[in-house]
Amino acid sequence: MRPDALNPLFVENDALDGVGPKLRKPLEKLGLIRVKDIAYHLPERFVTRRPVESLDDAAEGEQIVIALTPIEHRAARNNRGPYRVLAQDGIGNICALTFFGRASFTAKKQLPVGEKRWVAGRLDRYGDMLQIVHPDHVEKEDGATLARLCEPVYALSEGLTQPRVAGLVEQALARLPELPEWIEPSQFNKAGWPAWRDALHLAHKAENPGARDRLAYDELLANSLALMLVRADNRRRKGQALKGDGGLRDRLQLPFPLTGAQQRSIAEIEGDLAQDAPMLRLLQGDVGAGKTVVALEAMLIANEAGKQAALLAPTEILARQHFETLRTLAASTGVEVALLTGRDKGRARESILMGLLDGSIDIVVGTHAIFQDSVSYKDLALVVVDEQHRFGVQQRLQLAAKGKKTPHTLAMTATPIPRTLTLAQYGEMDVSKLDEMPPGRKPIITRVTSMERMDEIVSGIARHLETGQQAFWVCPMVHESEIADLAAAEARYAVLKERFGDRVVLVHGQMPPDAKDAAMERFVAGEAKLMVATTVIEVGVDVPNATLVVVEQAEHFGLAQLHQLRGRVGRGSEQAVCLLLRGDRLSETAKRRLALMRETQDGFRIAEEDLELRGGGELLGTRQSGDTPFRVAGLEQITRLLPAAHADARLLMERDGGLASERGGAARILLYLFERDWGVQLLRGG
Ligand code: ADP
Ligand code: MG
Repeated sequence: MRPDALNPLFVENDALDGVGPKLRKPLEKLGLIRVKDIAYHLPERFVTRRPVESLDDAAEGEQIVIALTPIEHRAARNNRGPYRVLAQDGIGNICALTFFGRASFTAKKQLPVGEKRWVAGRLDRYGDMLQIVHPDHVEKEDGATLARLCEPVYALSEGLTQPRVAGLVEQALARLPELPEWIEPSQFNKAGWPAWRDALHLAHKAENPGARDRLAYDELLANSLALMLVRADNRRRKGQALKGDGGLRDRLQLPFPLTGAQQRSIAEIEGDLAQDAPMLRLLQGDVGAGKTVVALEAMLIANEAGKQAALLAPTEILARQHFETLRTLAASTGVEVALLTGRDKGRARESILMGLLDGSIDIVVGTHAIFQDSVSYKDLALVVVDEQHRFGVQQRLQLAAKGKKTPHTLAMTATPIPRTLTLAQYGEMDVSKLDEMPPGRKPIITRVTSMERMDEIVSGIARHLETGQQAFWVCPMVHESEIADLAAAEARYAVLKERFGDRVVLVHGQMPPDAKDAAMERFVAGEAKLMVATTVIEVGVDVPNATLVVVEQAEHFGLAQLHQLRGRVGRGSEQAVCLLLRGDRLSETAKRRLALMRETQDGFRIAEEDLELRGGGELLGTRQSGDTPFRVAGLEQITRLLPAAHADARLLMERDGGLASERGGAARILLYLFERDWGVQLLRGG
């Protein structure tokens, strides 16, 4: 049970004044669902504005405070158009105050023609007009106060304004309880950090690295501690030792010899399976490194021991692909491989359920459907989980309820993550690494080309498709709104469709799942030749005939993402090409990223350099850590603070593994605060 002290933080956002149905949606879009989320919605940066006498004194892009007198209101020409208020400074310069959407209603009231107002905001240029879009403040008198303000700037979504968010944050902060200290006293004193509640207040007030570090450290500590609790719990659990006699594996007729890395990984897995304690192992290997065969060998060991194995895939399509591959590879062994997805209904489904129950199915491949309540196994002893970052402890506990004993788990990922992050993300697991590619792979040719050469690029694609091979075209998500992103992808699709007709399909995240699957399937089946996609091209989709990937506005992608995207091709025997299209203005970091892509295909190296580039370029509070399990800690903070947090957690576990002491109690609160309470639940043996 969650400690009572935390209750005020876990109530929903509409407990705050002013939050009704209308605000809930934009808040949820930012993940601000409960009061706690709002308190932790830390500013992206702070702004101090310069008071100016006239527009002549101000530079474009500058944050200013200025007295302006509205002279004319111009209504929007259509729904989406802006509402503009033309206003004049003291010497007759004109500037537009621009509002979109609902904000225009407020503008009408706040900016009556002929009355002077103090306006604070960022001066920009639109065509040949100066403008301030959505001024942060419009006040009758307060010019001097405005100029003194150092204000937080928060991430927003459509329908929110800075003052709105600031007001909610203030309410949330007022509700913070006093909590006991959970950080190791020596660490706390050495760092000279503020206490938890003070740190949250300070972090919203002004730039305060100490406060932000403390908050990040809390999250890292919670994470390390939870992972250690899982590990400890796992050691206590009884699984079933699986010893294979090699009978099935001997009958396996692979079309290639295993690489050294594959052999090593299989041996490590075999060692784990032979233990009573359930295996918790991560198999890390770049796209194409050959994880599937390793998984198959592991599953055959379970089968040799007379038990069943399951492979969980993130999507239907991947499940089907895995099923086909495994069935073909395992044909000579005689084991029964079945596929079970949410789509299977009626008799077919019944028969699979029966086979799982009576043990006639040895290996089942599927989506989450394979763990539904209605699915029972005769004796499930091994679960392989492919590419599910969020397949966490909770799911595993659910699974444990399926077998008589806790099944062994093998997680597989092609996402190259740097060493520090492996610790944070998979700290409770042992790791096997496939750091060697099967021989004979042709390196993918990577080229960087300017977007301006679009005509040539499209002709190149035409020639490529003429050979019968397929291609991906990836559109980026770069705009502030998804609608604009989608529009961009759709526009590109329309252009390409004009040229290539039915041979093009569009796939994006906003599509209904059925339509998306259908489009993907047309491409997988080879009916469609060119797939235009937002970044949803799913990890692991295997279309050996797709040998060209074009990435539009490649400078907007992170290295890890580019690497993943490039990995969509180069799976067959034909030479594969990756074409990175770039705009004409590139930041230094973007240049280095693209250069590195040309230079190497080693996912682990790319991951390390990616962390360095992103960590280094990271400003205070821009988290960019969407691919980590953290919401508060940014990449740079993770690298810098994780080792100490990890050591802190370890020390606490050694002294008080049951979290029974006073500080252990504080640590329990911490685990609930960061929603790693499954750690606490394990303590109770649940
Ligand atoms: P991933 O690690 O991305 O899941 P796969 O298991 O799909 O990689 O393997 C990619 C391709 O490499 C497959 O076609 C597979 O048959 C082949 N492959 C796997 N291991 C070897 C090997 N040792 N030698 C040659 N080819 C291999
Ligand atoms: Mg794979």
